[in-house]
Amino acid sequence: MAQSFEGKKVLITGAGSGIGRATAKTLDGLGATLILCDISTDFLEQVKTDLEESGSSQPKHVYQKCDVSSPADCEAVVKSIPTSTGAEPKLDCLFNCAGINPTNIPITETTDSYFTRLMEVNVRGTFNMSRACVPLLSGQSSIVNVASNCGLRGYSGYTVYCATKHAIVGFTKALALELGPRGIRVNAVAPGYTDTPTMAGNVEGGDANQRLISGLALGRLGQPSEVADVVAFLFSPQSSYMTGSVVEVTGGLK
Ligand code: NAD
Repeated sequence: MAQSFEGKKVLITGAGSGIGRATAKTLDGLGATLILCDISTDFLEQVKTDLEESGSSQPKHVYQKCDVSSPADCEAVVKSIPTSTGAEPKLDCLFNCAGINPTNIPITETTDSYFTRLMEVNVRGTFNMSRACVPLLSGQSSIVNVASNCGLRGYSGYTVYCATKHAIVGFTKALALELGPRGIRVNAVAPGYTDTPTMAGNVEGGDANQRLISGLALGRLGQPSEVADVVAFLFSPQSSYMTGSVVEVTGGLK
């Protein structure tokens, strides 16, 4: 049975699209109070409309523009977390989902700016928001980061993206050890090929799509909501003995 998130505050980065947006919908449906942030205000408007149209009790949610690569933006999001009068702000769950999906580029054609942006968003963004939120977490709290199948193995042409996602795996395992004594759990999901807007080039059909799908035991792409369900599980007490885990949601990579 799905766990209720009534009374729980959950912060999601990259909440405007794809896996972040799907997770917002899932947790909204389970009663969570959401602090939703994204670099795109248009995307935040869209997720707000989505939640309203699906009958959310949305007035309690917070929508905040934030570039996770900016420590100041992350601190500002933390200050926007609603509090009971006079109480210290508190957070139950942090989902570090903001990220830039990969482009296939040989190393000799990879620019400094591509390297820097992927590192700044995928790695530093996760660090920035985690550092800002940890003081608000307590026992029973939990962090979930987004790694990837590219965080568990190498793919030709994806050196920088693979490096960022391997970094997330290491970050997750180390932070789990640091925060475990306080009862705070830290895990990661490692999605495979998931049908989100920035995967669009692959999901529009054609040879590339067929090649991807033929490498999967389940023979289809993942849906963002299927990753969201695993994130909800990792936040719930049903995963109370899991920390430092990286859960693959790949449809069975061959
Ligand atoms: P998406 O492009 O649909 O969504 C990413 C969201 O992050 C967008 O709303 C975007 O505006 C936001 N964002 C980008 N840069 C940001 C920044 N600096 N600060 C705040 N928000 C920012 O992508 P998605 O496919 O849902 O990917 C989400 C995460 O999952 C990423 O970390 C991605 O690497 C990872 N992932 C995706 C797949 C996949 O196949 N889609 C597979 C494995 C891992």
